[in-house]
Amino acid sequence: TDVPPGLDPERLAGMLDEERARWIEARPKSAALRERARRSQVHGTPQHWINQFPPPVPLTVERAAGARLYDVDGHEYADFGLAGTAALWGHDHPAVVAALRDQLGRGSVTLWSHEDHVWVTEELHHRFGLPFWQFTVSASDANRFALLLAKVTTGRRRILMFNRAYHGSLELTAAVLSPDGEVIPQPGVEPNGVDVRETTKVVEFNDLDALERALAPGDVAAVLAEPVMTNGGAVIRPEPGFHAALRDLTRRTGTLLIIDETQTIPAGPGGCTREFGLEPDLITMGKCIAGGVPAGLYGMSDTVAAAAARYTEHGDGGLGSTMASGPLAVRGMRAVLGEVMTDDTYARMNRLGERYERDIAAVIARHDLPWHVGRLGGRVSYAFTPDPPRDAGRLYPSVGSAARKALWLYMANRGIVVNPMSGGGLMSPLTAETDVERHGALFAAAIGALTGRNG
Ligand code: PMP
Repeated sequence: TDVPPGLDPERLAGMLDEERARWIEARPKSAALRERARRSQVHGTPQHWINQFPPPVPLTVERAAGARLYDVDGHEYADFGLAGTAALWGHDHPAVVAALRDQLGRGSVTLWSHEDHVWVTEELHHRFGLPFWQFTVSASDANRFALLLAKVTTGRRRILMFNRAYHGSLELTAAVLSPDGEVIPQPGVEPNGVDVRETTKVVEFNDLDALERALAPGDVAAVLAEPVMTNGGAVIRPEPGFHAALRDLTRRTGTLLIIDETQTIPAGPGGCTREFGLEPDLITMGKCIAGGVPAGLYGMSDTVAAAAARYTEHGDGGLGSTMASGPLAVRGMRAVLGEVMTDDTYARMNRLGERYERDIAAVIARHDLPWHVGRLGGRVSYAFTPDPPRDAGRLYPSVGSAARKALWLYMANRGIVVNPMSGGGLMSPLTAETDVERHGALFAAAIGALTGRNG
């Protein structure tokens, strides 16, 4: 059941075994470090995610430069994973490196205001339309605080999210729809945590009828949505009219709308918010926004800002972090917004993304596979379904984890790293055109090996 349509199960199992062995064989230093790490890290990895990624021994990085990774065993990789959008601008963008070098030695964290903060929040207002902004350490925190402020503003307790969306390590959003449409904790989540049936409504993306029904009682503080879903294993686009209806339904029911732009910054210099002309009440982001320094941001309307001001007048409010908004992170943001997120950067990322997508589409067509490839700017993902996916619920059973693992290992053993979870690729302004070409050739060879038809 885990074998995507069009692939030969025996060839897939064979590739997985062979590529695993080949990976281990060529990485003695990585393996030794992993064994050492087992004595001081859970799973022997600094974050549990790394243990779940395809390689049996983690890719152990010695350094990263341009859009390439170099491991401790002497291998070089073109990096199309780019730390899941956190390294979107490449690993050493000259404008970011220069700004951070200049700031180091002038204070990294002060817990005071700085001119760069004002420059950044003015720029965010200009780009994303929302007037008021606050700083966090991560996108997870931005979503946590946005959801809290939505409850404070509306006096309501529940939130609504789309099925199989990911918004960070938050208990409130660790919910999915069961096959019979009940809200249940995401598999693998501690059942003694927050009772998500009480806190969270879940509907499928693009399902406006379900959305209308869920908002009708008027008990939802906010809808938290990616403008285009990027985490379900594919790029899932809103159908025509979806965003207009989402805004209309939320407004009519007094529900706030939070747009999570964390992974949709590749859509354009003002994210999807500007690209699609969205009018959210709150916007959240993080990852690449400070050029590699941990940072997140949330923006809000006048109404939410007024509620936030009242709420935080005297106490702590459960908002904020000492490490948020240090001058180092903010300097990174100023460099990213001022010098990196330009029309030229996007033109280059889009051009590379088009080529990367075309190469995958050509392989799908050549082998007549019932698969679909989608793109959002420089973000490209393919799904093992014939049509563009409408929602992540229907897509999920076809994630094809064995195939994703085998393909990841086949490519990485030959110097190409794609996203270790989705198998997708992300273009940075530093991505070499020749690496995109190499990716296309390797993808063709890998699929040829899995179908047994090389022509
Ligand atoms: N929002 C979205 C849409 C994400 O994809 C992620 C992470 N994959 C987050 C929020 C959380 O980001 P972080 O893990 O950096 O806090």
